[in-house]
Amino acid sequence: MSLEKRIFPTSSINIEVNALANYIYADNAATTKLDVEAFDAMKPWLLDEYGNASQPYSFSRKPKEALKKARETIAECIHALPEEIFFTSGGTESDNWAIKGAALSNCGHRAIITSAFEHHAILHSCEAVERLGCPVSYLWPDKNGIITPSMLESHITDETLLVSVMLANNEIGAVQPIQELCDIAHSHNALFHTDAVQAVGHIEVDVKKLGVDMLSASAHKFNGPKGIGFLYIRGGTPTIPFLDGGAQEYKRRAGTENIASIVGMAIALKNNCQLILENQQKIKALENRLLDTLDSLGVSYVRNGSDCSLPGLISLSFAGKDGEAILHRLDLMGISISTGSACDSRRTEISHVLKALKLPTELAKGTIRISLGKNNTESEIDFIANAIAKVVL
Ligand code: PLP
Repeated sequence: MSLEKRIFPTSSINIEVNALANYIYADNAATTKLDVEAFDAMKPWLLDEYGNASQPYSFSRKPKEALKKARETIAECIHALPEEIFFTSGGTESDNWAIKGAALSNCGHRAIITSAFEHHAILHSCEAVERLGCPVSYLWPDKNGIITPSMLESHITDETLLVSVMLANNEIGAVQPIQELCDIAHSHNALFHTDAVQAVGHIEVDVKKLGVDMLSASAHKFNGPKGIGFLYIRGGTPTIPFLDGGAQEYKRRAGTENIASIVGMAIALKNNCQLILENQQKIKALENRLLDTLDSLGVSYVRNGSDCSLPGLISLSFAGKDGEAILHRLDLMGISISTGSACDSRRTEISHVLKALKLPTELAKGTIRISLGKNNTESEIDFIANAIAKVVL
């Protein structure tokens, strides 16, 4: 591929972007760039200290200690106890465990309530337990993408075993009133799980304040490595071991521990949590700059979601336009954005999230998701806004 320069004339300014060196990544809800410090911290566990943490000899002492330290670091970041953190292969596995573990530990006799705009890791897990005889009902968000406490109040019964509502939606960023929802679940003796994959490392997540029994997280969404995550399970929560085999993860999730990735995840989370307010402020300012620039360029759009959203997660609908076409035009200009969640990006139909919001088809079809991260710059934002204006005006 050549390193040709692209000249991009816009209505107000000329911006020059190098097609390869200046590729603009604005799809941080799909995945994030690995933190350099996390990468450096991972290397020794892949090369020199490759011992199996479960073995009793001294060569395994260091990996065992690294595992313990990583568990403590992660627990501290979300205000949990180390023994409440269970390492998994990522958000999908954590969600599967939360739903299936709760349903199977109760022989599928009681019901689950979730929302209609959860990630497919939750929705498809719910379908699986439904086939085993555990009824599932779905709450529909309001037009701002919020599951309100009164919606849960009107559906929950004493037969409800588990309520699972995501902390922040991955397509529109709407942050849910988890604490209130959790209180309602507990008042009916139901468990509460939240898929916090988009939230952990980006906004404050305190499992004690939220009151949740289980919480899913995934490292690659907070500048950690891919293929690693964790499920927080509050002490005493009824569930079943997700993978049977060895005695790893307190006999609840068997398999030789992926020390390098676990260490990388812990460093990435610690780094993000230490700078959480600074990053939020920076990303929010970039978000405002993007919307202000679009306004000043005369671009009309509808912003989906509520005022209470993840910083930098911007879902925009352009009436009468095709989101897919916008994505490809922006891609040609060196910009990565998405039309919805990463796993839906190969489909052309309207995403289940936008359907759940009951967005008019005309708007839903013309929807894109821009998700900004801590590495984005003001000049990138200006370039994105001008590129959008060129495509949609
Ligand atoms: N839950 C949510 C809300 C997500 O956004 C994602 C990924 O996009 C997942 C779960 C799945 O996480 P992972 O990619 O780690 O399997």
